[in-house]
Amino acid sequence: MTDCIFCRIAAGEIPANIVYQDEDVLAFRDLNPQAPVHVLIIPRRHIATLNDVAPEDVQLLGRLLLAAKMVAEQEGLAEAGYRTVINCNADGGQTVFHVHVHLLGGRSMNWPPG
Ligand code: 5GP
Ligand code: ZN
Repeated sequence: MTDCIFCRIAAGEIPANIVYQDEDVLAFRDLNPQAPVHVLIIPRRHIATLNDVAPEDVQLLGRLLLAAKMVAEQEGLAEAGYRTVINCNADGGQTVFHVHVHLLGGRSMNWPPG
């Protein structure tokens, strides 16, 4: 999808501060961080929202969470803890329609979220 900003980051057309990548998954720092560490983990393949995930995508979704775990460890967050978030559509606060996991850490998180 050439009009999708995260597809363009995955294709290397838009620069990003990449912290982890493999053949299926890419993780890069959020442009507008909401915590001392704020990383987005995306599949290279375009999937718009969590609503669009199919049963055959379960392995890929698992890979996103595994990457989140690895980045959390890499960033020194594992022991203190961190938060992972997937926003979906308007009420979820999704603004980029390429499914992604937010990894937030480096400070204590509030609950319930806003
Ligand atoms: P959403 O609101 O869809 O869950 O999250 C989208 C996230 O992408 C936001 O936190 C926003 O700051 C981030 N973002 C939007 N455009 C870019 C970009 O071009 N580069 C990077 N690194 N992050 C972006
Ligand atoms: Zn995309």
